[in-house]
Amino acid sequence: MSPEPNAPDDTEASSAPDGADEPAATAETTELDADETTDSSSPYTLQREDGSETHHAFWADDVADRVEDRDPDEPIVIKGGISPSGVPHLGNVNEIMRGYFVAEVLRERGHEVTQVFTADDRDPLRGLPRTLCDLEGNLVDLGEVNAGALGRNLGSPYTDIPDPFGCCESYGDHFSQIIEDSAAAVDVPIEFVSTTELYESGDLEEITRHVLENRDTAREVLSKYQDKVEENGEYVPFNPICEECGKITETVTDVDLEAGTVEYRCTDMDAGDQTIEGCGHEGTATLRDGKLPWRFEWPAQWQALGVDFEPFGKDHAEGSWPSGIDVAENVLGIEPPVPMVYEWFTLDGEPFSSSAGNVILVSDVLELIEPEVLRYFFTKDPSKARDFSVERLDLLVDEFDRFEAVYYGEVEASEDERAFAERVYPLVVDEPDEDRIRLPYTFAAVLGMTDDPALREEIARREGHIPENASEQAIEDALGRVEQARNWARRTENEFDYELKREAIPDHDFDATTEIALEELADFVEEGHGPDEIQEEIYETAKRHDVDMGSFFGAGYRLFFDEEQGPKLGPFLAKVDREFVVARLRRER
Ligand SMILES: [Zn+2]
Ligand SMILES: [Zn+2]
Repeated sequence: MSPEPNAPDDTEASSAPDGADEPAATAETTELDADETTDSSSPYTLQREDGSETHHAFWADDVADRVEDRDPDEPIVIKGGISPSGVPHLGNVNEIMRGYFVAEVLRERGHEVTQVFTADDRDPLRGLPRTLCDLEGNLVDLGEVNAGALGRNLGSPYTDIPDPFGCCESYGDHFSQIIEDSAAAVDVPIEFVSTTELYESGDLEEITRHVLENRDTAREVLSKYQDKVEENGEYVPFNPICEECGKITETVTDVDLEAGTVEYRCTDMDAGDQTIEGCGHEGTATLRDGKLPWRFEWPAQWQALGVDFEPFGKDHAEGSWPSGIDVAENVLGIEPPVPMVYEWFTLDGEPFSSSAGNVILVSDVLELIEPEVLRYFFTKDPSKARDFSVERLDLLVDEFDRFEAVYYGEVEASEDERAFAERVYPLVVDEPDEDRIRLPYTFAAVLGMTDDPALREEIARREGHIPENASEQAIEDALGRVEQARNWARRTENEFDYELKREAIPDHDFDATTEIALEELADFVEEGHGPDEIQEEIYETAKRHDVDMGSFFGAGYRLFFDEEQGPKLGPFLAKVDREFVVARLRRER
């Protein structure tokens, strides 16, 4: 989050939001309004209906057209950004992936492209996060780190706050590192830029000076967007860092551009529902010892980095984007980048929220699915809200498998579906490989009930999922999904979260009627039937023999899992190799 110190009533975030802090904004799951589609400055790039333009199968091609329309210098620069305020979760990676696909499309068209991502790490810490995470992605309660030290640093820039985990140079560096690792994990080449470094190295100094030179214009422009900035007031668009207490201050009392300094008084900062107290110190700061307020910092980044395209969440669309265009054109005298508003997505139907525990990191996701499946998720239309469902991750994987099969012409598909797959699939995988093997995800989850790798392969072969002539590598890759599906079962504690007792038959004690019923069920399974038929037959068999339904299912769970409950039995029995199922129902092995 990066609400600027000058605008306490303005809850904008500098980048992807965390639902914990912005519930109202993230709760909305409808499509973006189309009411701005006619305005040429509208950032709703994908929602505009210009009519005249060709529409591509892939949205990133539409965006690339617009970037090319600007006739940009090379390298073309694509940016994203985030305030490293806390747990960087999957939602934050959205922005990186969206930029990436546009970058890839432009590279395909022969352009040189640089994708940069700013850590807006000179932003002040405005509140204590309830949950943090270590570099391995383990969530940690605030109480488990030195919360007191963090509390004393409220109001200080993230890069000036010690890393609560002690592993990185600062709080800001710690969370920036996790974002960098996330980008690397999905194989996105991206250049990370610390905003603090931009200030310290002087890369933003001339722009800061320009803004201060033109502070009357700057004030006039901003007053159109923020009520508390009066056109003729005392507002100065620069926030020095107090040399006494280290906090970002808001009260500049004098500007001396000849000396390249400002005079300030360290006053209180309004941070949402609390006030961060200033120390009252009066001092002098250079233009490198502070920051521009966010509404100026963002356009200043565009200028300093030469940004041609930037995707952002809808919080910006109504807030800092309109003022950003104005600042770019009328204060800095630059052309703003091509914008693209993307919709946020939810996690299992709820907004991402690290404090509520509704959060998942990229590293967690990649324990559950292949990177190409995750990359595929981000190829979907960014203007549509959607849910990332861990509970039903099988649906996403099935969808990916189909998308892949469509690309290889292995299944029937509509014209649109085929065009999308042909365009996008090569951007999602390292190298298209027609001989790849994909085990259906829920089947992989069933294989995950057994630990024995040889057995997993044997069952997969027997069930026809691995062709005779498959290469060692293809088999190994395919079986990788079994581990992932098993992790999924464990994480969600779903119907596949059981351990199949394959080696030996568990102890059991059934009455004679139950034993006869089990024999009959074995005969039925032996004939070869589908999951629903077997499920139905379990009920029928129990009824025919007047065996209590619950205890008949219980007998099945005892035999296969040595437990009293388990997955939906019919589909499970249909997925495991028939020979074993029949023998086990007959209690032969
Ligand atoms: Zn660290
Ligand atoms: Zn101070």
